[in-house]
Amino acid sequence: MKLLVNAKIFSSKRPQSILIQNEKIIFIGDFKDINISNDSLEIIDCKNNSVLPGFIDGHCHPFETISNLSSIDLSNESFRSKNDIYNFFKNLKFNKDLKLLKFHGFEHRYLNSDLSLKFFDDLNINIPLIIKHRTGHLIFTNSLAMKYAKLNIKNLEYPINSMEIHKKFSDLSSENFDYNLKIYNSNLIKFGYTTIVDAGASNDILKFKKYQELKSAKSLSPNICFMIGSNHINEFQNINNNKELFIGPTKFMINEYLDILEIENLLKKHLTYSKNDIAFHAISSEMIFKIIHILYEKLSILLSDRNIRLEHATEFIPEFYLKYQSKNLFLIYNPNFIYDHGDFYIENQDEFEIESLFNLAESMNKGYNVGLGTDAPFGNYNPFRMIFTALNRITKNNKIIKSETTINIEDILKAFSINNARALNTNGTTGSVNIGKNADLIILNNDINSLCDNSEILNTKVIHTIINGKSEYISC
Ligand SMILES: [Zn+2]
Repeated sequence: MKLLVNAKIFSSKRPQSILIQNEKIIFIGDFKDINISNDSLEIIDCKNNSVLPGFIDGHCHPFETISNLSSIDLSNESFRSKNDIYNFFKNLKFNKDLKLLKFHGFEHRYLNSDLSLKFFDDLNINIPLIIKHRTGHLIFTNSLAMKYAKLNIKNLEYPINSMEIHKKFSDLSSENFDYNLKIYNSNLIKFGYTTIVDAGASNDILKFKKYQELKSAKSLSPNICFMIGSNHINEFQNINNNKELFIGPTKFMINEYLDILEIENLLKKHLTYSKNDIAFHAISSEMIFKIIHILYEKLSILLSDRNIRLEHATEFIPEFYLKYQSKNLFLIYNPNFIYDHGDFYIENQDEFEIESLFNLAESMNKGYNVGLGTDAPFGNYNPFRMIFTALNRITKNNKIIKSETTINIEDILKAFSINNARALNTNGTTGSVNIGKNADLIILNNDINSLCDNSEILNTKVIHTIINGKSEYISC
């Protein structure tokens, strides 16, 4: 048994003791009320620091994050012309023996001209090149990479939609997987994640089996929720769910060119076939409108009480959808994007009011269920960066994307734990520090209640991560 003493379970200011037996929290209260001999206890002194439920990353892409660890980050490069790109590659130092040269975080929207396959061939780099767009949805390559992946450019639009070729390139990107996985997992436990949600729209049974392997080899510590890509739902008939690896909602990524009727037919088919919860890639206000309108106005009898999740909910307008508010509708925001991509939004956002992006404060005020996801690797997955950005809405270049309403740290932490658990139907066992719940919790290096100003959140660290009752990380 583990006994945590001097633990200030946020937001309480009173230090208490927490007793953990096997995987569960069995007691919270005063030390003197525990009648167990000290010999059988592993005592952990929290030193009056905050204890929180472990963070739940409501939306991320673990394999992409692992793959990006051996890929070059372009997100700090601001390419204004083809010449800029040309010069970047001309001056790039890299190992000429590599099988593949990978990049991520690329942005080409500041360029006035199109980029073709020929452009990347003309860089004269004699290694297959894979350059992922900032959003992960587009891929630029050279001909060598096409050949390597056995793809024919004639059958594809360029840049290539990553959904179409995802598999081919993920096989190519599996170099250093085990090594990178170790780094990734150690980051997750150091950041205090006790559950993460793989939200891939093309998630299939093969990927799920890969997770089964990683779980039984104990190479991924947090509990994993696996969303099912909407085209793969029939592959998941007889799956054994357990707390460490379980099936989440069906993930839809709807083509933005489909009209209302086409989407309605597509969803009708799915909702009739499966009772699973549903999650939508929902960024633009138009797409959000289409999804909500179709679900609630046309297909409401098929919804029953399944959870409906809007992933990103980037341009969700809280006052528009008040009549559809329900305990089943969840907005899974990525406020960390304000830090990572906010400067880009300021420069490019024209049709939508920038103050309304990732409007979690207003959504919470109006009573919606708000959860949080980092969308890593497309957003930073340092949880304290996420919390800080949700509070302050400050971009990488220190610009502020204001919001009319403010939010407090308690609500953000709830969104990052219990609300995310509700969105996954795991709130009965996780998402808060309570008797009877799974011992998924973290100890911080400070007491959040006594921080003098917000910026101290960025210096906050997790010093101990407990997942399913086991200490997975202890800082030295
Ligand atoms: Zn995503």
